[in-house]
Amino acid sequence: MWRATVLTIFPGMFPGPLGVSLAGKALGAGLWTLDALDIRAHTTDKHRTVDDTPAGGGPGMVMKADVLARAIDAVPADGRPRLLMSPRGVPLTQERVTALARGEGAVILCGRFEGVDERLIAARSLEEVSIGDYVLSGGEVAAMVLIDACVRLIPGVMGKEQSGTDESYSGGLLEYPQYTRPSMFEERPIPDVLTGGDHAKVEAWRRAQAENLTRERRPDLWRTYQNRTGKPK
Ligand code: SAH
Repeated sequence: MWRATVLTIFPGMFPGPLGVSLAGKALGAGLWTLDALDIRAHTTDKHRTVDDTPAGGGPGMVMKADVLARAIDAVPADGRPRLLMSPRGVPLTQERVTALARGEGAVILCGRFEGVDERLIAARSLEEVSIGDYVLSGGEVAAMVLIDACVRLIPGVMGKEQSGTDESYSGGLLEYPQYTRPSMFEERPIPDVLTGGDHAKVEAWRRAQAENLTRERRPDLWRTYQNRTGKPK
């Protein structure tokens, strides 16, 4: 069973959005587990201090290596990858999400303040993972993003009507446009091809749409796709 262990100073934020809809139902059904563990339980002083001022000066506070190490070491080493949510990390991709979802789960450390003592990252071989090129106030929301993306790929979580095989990124392209009833919305009809019943034509139209969207919106993805498929410009 896929297991997420989250180390945080705000365990009350969990399950939060992971407790509703697809992820929440799967959690309730026992298809995956979530443990949000309080880093503060591993402090030793009466103020339960998890942070201190940065060596060398500068603004903000840094999370202490000794406290974090105790929190990490209290999670049995069972081969699950140990991740640190971090804006300096390798950007999360659907490919990495798929690989994580196929594994046993993850142990996820959530930073706060200015981040964590660099020595902790090295000493516990943490893999830094970013969810995008912007800065959040803490790693919790980032951990939820990662967990949500993984959990929906666990077998049995999505019905086949919501299958993840056809969607954005799965084939290196963004997804084609979707429509549903009513057939006319504010004088905008559903494209004829989608209601004509010719399955091959629908497929061809969707592929062309996906390619156009990707070329226009994500030249980076488009180049990779071109290189892989040999598509001319
Ligand atoms: N001073 C740091 C930012 C700290 S933000 C820097 O400039 O790199 C506080 C915490 O929020 C981080 O330790 C990390 O756990 C989390 N965080 C912020 N932005 C993130 C992002 N884009 N992806 C993943 N985690 C992020």
